[in-house]
Amino acid sequence: MTRCLCKFSPFAAMLWIRASCILSVALLSAHIAAVPIKHLSKGNAHDTDLGKQKDISEINLAAGLDLFQGDILLPSLRNGLRDPSSRWKFPIPYILADNLGLNAKGAILNAFEMFRLKSCVDFKPYEGESSYIIFQEFSGCWSSVGDQHVGQNLSIGSGCDYKAVIEHEILHALGFFHEQSRTDRDDYVNIWWDEIITGYEHNFNTYEDNIITDLNTPYDYESLMHYSPFSFNKNASVPTITAKIPEFNAIIGQRLDFSVIDLERLNRMYNCTTTHTLLDNCAFEKTNICGMIQGTRDDADWVHEDSSQPGKVDHTLVGQCTGAGYFMFFNTSSGSAEEAALLESRILYPRRKEQCLQFFYKMTGSPSDRLTIWVRRDDSTGNVRKLVKIQNFQGDTDHHWKIAHVTLKEEKKFRYLFQGTKGDPQNSNGGIYLDDITLTETPCPTGVWTIRNISQILQSTEKGKTLLSPRFYNSEGYGFGVTLYPHGRLLASDSGYMGLAFHLFSGENDAILEWPVENRQVIMTILDQEPDAKNRMSLSLMFTTSKDHTASAINGSVIWDRPSKVGIYNEDCGCFRSLDWGWSQAIAHQMLTRRSFLKDDALIIFVDFEDITHLSQTEVPIPVKNQIPRDLVLQGQEPQVSGEDSGKNLEEALPAGSLDQTQLSRQKRSVKNTGPMEDHNWPQYFRDPCDLNPCQNEGICVNVKGMASCRCVSGHAFFYTGERCQAMQVHGSVLGLVIGGAAGITILIFAVFSNTFQKLRK
Ligand SMILES: [Zn+2]
Repeated sequence: MTRCLCKFSPFAAMLWIRASCILSVALLSAHIAAVPIKHLSKGNAHDTDLGKQKDISEINLAAGLDLFQGDILLPSLRNGLRDPSSRWKFPIPYILADNLGLNAKGAILNAFEMFRLKSCVDFKPYEGESSYIIFQEFSGCWSSVGDQHVGQNLSIGSGCDYKAVIEHEILHALGFFHEQSRTDRDDYVNIWWDEIITGYEHNFNTYEDNIITDLNTPYDYESLMHYSPFSFNKNASVPTITAKIPEFNAIIGQRLDFSVIDLERLNRMYNCTTTHTLLDNCAFEKTNICGMIQGTRDDADWVHEDSSQPGKVDHTLVGQCTGAGYFMFFNTSSGSAEEAALLESRILYPRRKEQCLQFFYKMTGSPSDRLTIWVRRDDSTGNVRKLVKIQNFQGDTDHHWKIAHVTLKEEKKFRYLFQGTKGDPQNSNGGIYLDDITLTETPCPTGVWTIRNISQILQSTEKGKTLLSPRFYNSEGYGFGVTLYPHGRLLASDSGYMGLAFHLFSGENDAILEWPVENRQVIMTILDQEPDAKNRMSLSLMFTTSKDHTASAINGSVIWDRPSKVGIYNEDCGCFRSLDWGWSQAIAHQMLTRRSFLKDDALIIFVDFEDITHLSQTEVPIPVKNQIPRDLVLQGQEPQVSGEDSGKNLEEALPAGSLDQTQLSRQKRSVKNTGPMEDHNWPQYFRDPCDLNPCQNEGICVNVKGMASCRCVSGHAFFYTGERCQAMQVHGSVLGLVIGGAAGITILIFAVFSNTFQKLRK
């Protein structure tokens, strides 16, 4: 079980004290659907095991965060969710501090992409803005609520580096509280007060509706912001919070992804009308077929069909409703070979340079039928005309719905096209089906593994049994695969879970590749096959390979060394396979059967293996305006500046990680780094001479041995001087320009005036 703790920053200029709220993030118990974060091992259990994940709440508590008792109704907290000034402007500037692990950094960027796919929330690297979020590794997972208008911390501590946990914390930062903090929560859940650890009852407080708003959305058991049943429980088997509609007990605390209502709220709060990376999404349920058009110079047409005829099943609603749902169909059983039909998208306007076209297709005709993907590009006259062939899909005999991914690299407006071609109408009894199209401006997954007849697999396998994916290659040439444990690993403590692990395969490039392969982020995703990409609640689990991953089963070697050296020979692939690394309890069976994870009786797993070494150093300095005025000499080490450099805007960069989240503390630290004086040399009762800033013109006040000392602001053209920065001076080099400019203006005015005067005289 993991827990996150969130802190609220009540005053912009105070350290965060006051309230905290802790919630449990993932679910522990076997009968609860969850995203467990237990790592699994193979072979010698305590060697390849990352170790049992510590409960984040335990980490938080150990860090003394139990000091934050539940004074969350303090007036100072009214800058909560309702307060418009706590809303962010997008994009939100961010810093990834270098105390974060590489995997956490990759996971944070992954969470950003989910916001960009599903909402109008966007993020940008920090460039000196006054409001920003600095992601750092402290103990536990926590965030302030809303924009604090300073640099604010968001902690992704050890064990918090999961997509959904990070999304949860960012939702706090965006202004959202926990779902069960709603004013009306007692209508929907029971809080078992006697079962809560003594002293932690405050975590179950509610907020008055003058502080928070539900944005006119119903209570959401599926919210990413909801506690799980066993949050802050005294007794491992007794819940502290249960749903009044019992079937939701398996759902509350889900940590897959945003719920539909989470997104609705987010989009309402921020008036989102569009997303950043979702270009097109079509399930063909409506007659307008998403603005797609039939080709005009082809031989035949794609037909918008429903599932009412025998043998016809669409993908959108397969398994949910029989005889319902629409799809596009191209009949290949009549006419003559090589006849084609074209279906074109509307014109699309990309923002990035790479897109992924994902769709489901089924070919029930002749094996020589073809489905070809084209794009039509701008022919440089502004017309989207130029055809480019992208990829071909050949007919087959298995007649299943299949998922396809096609990478596009479009930079200007374009259309995508589906061309169906009849291969052999005499030997065709069907045709080509097309459904559930999603076009995103994100990379396509590297490995896609479809496991069919999953219900039968779940019935016929037992704990410890494995299924191996085919071998995939990443862009660098490393071979890898996924191990699925339909009923978890043999040593898993709880049953009712599916396990998921990653391994390397030996491959054709191994001789020239670098070993051991470290700093590669593995992302394994179990796809929720919802047709609407925004509403998918896919499970993504990620870790990053490291030299620290060793195993005694291979004599202490690094697991990610060359598979032919440290792996085991596998007869199926005729290659070597490394040990498994992953999660013995990746997802509960109960959760799998909800939503669309098992649609068409197929489980779809994506796997990526990408180098994230470039994220090793992401922290950027935060400039502190630390001016050195010409006539204000500070005691001690202040450099004397003179001549042309005087008044130059001297910026001092502090490592971001050393900063507190308040402007005040940043100013104090700037003093610490430049001046001779530190506040703690003085008794605490000593009044801060900068308490009422005596410096004018935005000068920064520094406490120098109990005396106020002003550091004045300097611009490019001028600077302030004087004991209180009261006098403005112009830089020498600029002065001539100013005088020249002023003289020019004077001359111009004189010319206009004399001209007018002459006209008047006439
Ligand atoms: Zn939280």
